[in-house]
Amino acid sequence: MTLFSMKMRASRTECDTTSHVSGAEKILSEAELAENAGALIGRALHHAKGDADYIQLKIEKAAPEAIAYIDALPVRTVEAADAAEGRAAILSLLHELGLSNGEAIMEKFHETYAMRGAMLLDADTLERLEPDHARGIRATYMDAEHAPSRPADGGKNHFQEAIVLASKVANAPHIVAEICMSDDPDYVTGYVASKTTGYMRITKLKALGDPDGGRIFLYRGPREDVPKTIAYLEKQMVLVKNAPTSPTKQPPADPWRVLSENLEQRKAAGLYRSITTIDSPQSAHVTVGGKNFLMLASNSYLGLTDEPRVLRAASEAALRFGAGSGGSRLTTGSLPLHDELEKAISAFKGTEATLLFDTGYMANVGILSALGTKDATIFSDELNHASIIDGCRLSRARVVVYRHADMADLEAKIKAARPGFGVIVTDAVFSMDGDVAPLPDIMALAKKYGLLSMTDEAHATGVIGKTGRGIVEYFGLKEQPDVMMGTLSKSLASEGGFVSGRALLIEYLKNTARSFIFSTSQSPANLAAAREALAIVEKEPERVARLQENTRVFIAALRENGVHAKSDSAIVPIVIGNERRATEAAKRLYDDGIFLSAIRYPTVAKGSARLRAAIMATHTKSELREAAAKIATVVSEQ
Ligand code: PMP
Repeated sequence: MTLFSMKMRASRTECDTTSHVSGAEKILSEAELAENAGALIGRALHHAKGDADYIQLKIEKAAPEAIAYIDALPVRTVEAADAAEGRAAILSLLHELGLSNGEAIMEKFHETYAMRGAMLLDADTLERLEPDHARGIRATYMDAEHAPSRPADGGKNHFQEAIVLASKVANAPHIVAEICMSDDPDYVTGYVASKTTGYMRITKLKALGDPDGGRIFLYRGPREDVPKTIAYLEKQMVLVKNAPTSPTKQPPADPWRVLSENLEQRKAAGLYRSITTIDSPQSAHVTVGGKNFLMLASNSYLGLTDEPRVLRAASEAALRFGAGSGGSRLTTGSLPLHDELEKAISAFKGTEATLLFDTGYMANVGILSALGTKDATIFSDELNHASIIDGCRLSRARVVVYRHADMADLEAKIKAARPGFGVIVTDAVFSMDGDVAPLPDIMALAKKYGLLSMTDEAHATGVIGKTGRGIVEYFGLKEQPDVMMGTLSKSLASEGGFVSGRALLIEYLKNTARSFIFSTSQSPANLAAAREALAIVEKEPERVARLQENTRVFIAALRENGVHAKSDSAIVPIVIGNERRATEAAKRLYDDGIFLSAIRYPTVAKGSARLRAAIMATHTKSELREAAAKIATVVSEQ
């Protein structure tokens, strides 16, 4: 049968290899072509790494006799405890293959990190045989032999692709072995493969977070045959028979070791997290182990967590209604406190109705998984909070991520996706950057394309807008977004989440949001505390004004001390970059009596670690100025 090679390469800009977004290649029958082309283009247009602006699709016809059929290499896995053990496994396999100069070969591996393709190395003389050292050799024109029923949109199967490539390389004339380590910082598994020993998968070849990677093809043969080997690798069409789609799972010798190794890797990469126990309420000052700290990490923006009226309301509610709510409201019923708080939030937000959730996280997960039905599309800002991301993941909708606050990108993506039912969702205030979403433009796009708009007001309620009513007040809008989500855990000093909007929306969510339906509702004390805190925000807008003034004072003081800082809210990020340096800076400030968190990957992108200061209405201006000076000193010495 005549077959076709199909290759797709997507990048941000034409011909720019550094902006590579996605690539794929397949060998297909004519009947499979159209569907696979569509799937590859779709993948390139909406890729997690970003969106391609330039897509190349190349289809070449192949005569049946031009295709070589080879068997997949058998696979085995070596569980390595760390990179050193992984490397030792490579050396021992090279030795098995009669290569006693493994150490010297591995020395050459560093040179491959900057190369696009693989190094072709004479296994004995260690001479490099690729004609172009920067480009290297690209093994291409290959696929797994498959039934016509293979789904076109099944996504990438990285494991099978690696086996296909390794099997082709191992079958190339005079290739004795291949060594490969991925340049994906999150992917530490690598392999060494040869025709005689098969594909040996090594679970750890580098530390988590390490962006280095490369590939060496080891050659042992006459020099005049090198072009033949390169031609096979780069031109010969190969279909690999029986290529497995996942490694055969062998139970690890000790399942607990899997977990402890993961934690060790996190420690090595500066990504380990631990929790400090605080002995006092979350107010402007806290005590830890008897020592006093200025609290610059709390979300209790208005300083209401230990406000006497809030505490009284919480304790009275506990005494009257008990410690817990007893179950899900749909089965156990509501307390009057639920109904009162929902009405109060609706009045505060100016909406028809409100529904409470146990946390803001659960609100986002519940709302988005309920709105994100199978035929829906969710458009989500790339910097949205993890709870929005998780809500998208739990939904069955198609999820399209747009560039941060980039309306041109959002509109282009809406046009390309041609959604039926859909939602545009955005943080109102972005939790790690403190900037405010361009809501008027988002709402205009939602209206233009018949979509719902949704905001997460976790860091907006009680913070932005003259009286702390959030993003609608901030922009002075006449209309509201369709779905307004918020949390009771920050300015409102309690715990819980909510969604406000039309009565129809709330009815729908009561019937469909699984995190509402299947979880015990908030306790009486939580409900009453939030209700009282909300009443205080309404009665005492001067608290909001003080918070906004404090933030201005803090930012001005940072700038006077030479630290670049800006924010539209009460979150002030001080970007440091390197994860370890950010952790070190936070530790030095901690030693100096300032409680401030270092925010690192995966909460923010790798290399954009930061100190994140959260300002409170109850800080004094002089302590904020003093803290800004201390932060500036630590940052300048990093
Ligand atoms: N959305 C955003 C933007 C947040 O920052 C947070 C809390 N970090 C949440 C939702 C989740 O809210 P909660 O803490 O109430 O679960």
